[in-house]
Amino acid sequence: MAARSYRPALDITVSRLAMSHNVKRNTTVYPSGMSYAATERFEVEPAPGGLALVQDLLNTIGVGGPVHPDLLADVDHAQRWLDAALEQWAEATGSGPPHEIVLTDRDLPRLRTLRDRLRGILEHRTPPDPPPGPAGSLRLDLTADGRIEARPEGTGIGWVVSALLGEMYEARRDDTWRRLKTCRYEKCAVAFFDRSRNNSGVWHDVRICGNAVNLRASRARRRQQA
Ligand SMILES: [Zn+2]
Repeated sequence: MAARSYRPALDITVSRLAMSHNVKRNTTVYPSGMSYAATERFEVEPAPGGLALVQDLLNTIGVGGPVHPDLLADVDHAQRWLDAALEQWAEATGSGPPHEIVLTDRDLPRLRTLRDRLRGILEHRTPPDPPPGPAGSLRLDLTADGRIEARPEGTGIGWVVSALLGEMYEARRDDTWRRLKTCRYEKCAVAFFDRSRNNSGVWHDVRICGNAVNLRASRARRRQQA
């Protein structure tokens, strides 16, 4: 695969980086109709369980220009992304939206704002006096076997926000939230789930982004010494 044979150049560019992700040029194809396509286009493994829905929202950002476009740039792209992601999420969690979710132009800013807000949290760059965040609601159900199930409530985009916040809430409770990260290479910023034992990962793929940044640093050091 190209990602494995990739060798970062001295002046790695965004497009080189994007190409190294070895994705079909038409990245908005959803082959099976059901996938975390935003995440999988970067050859990143989805986070476990329902948290992968949050990761997939984070990975809808545009990286490398036309190679990996912003999947929330317009309603058509956003709708296709959401349909596929929710189908996958329903498969993973055993519960899906109670009705068809149809996005409108007015919904896109809400989704993009939530995406930016979550990225800010993961990247520790929350503004000093942030506006109130989006709110969602969950319904708690006692199951036959005595468990408590939290189900998103609301309609349309409100339900989507509830589902995303619900997954964040769960992840914070079971302490998996700290493993959801964005790649430290500033031109990449792909969201990945750190499966390392000590949760020390900083690159979505050390061979691509880790090597590129290390090479850049060592060349800068050599230039200083010259
Ligand atoms: Zn990366």
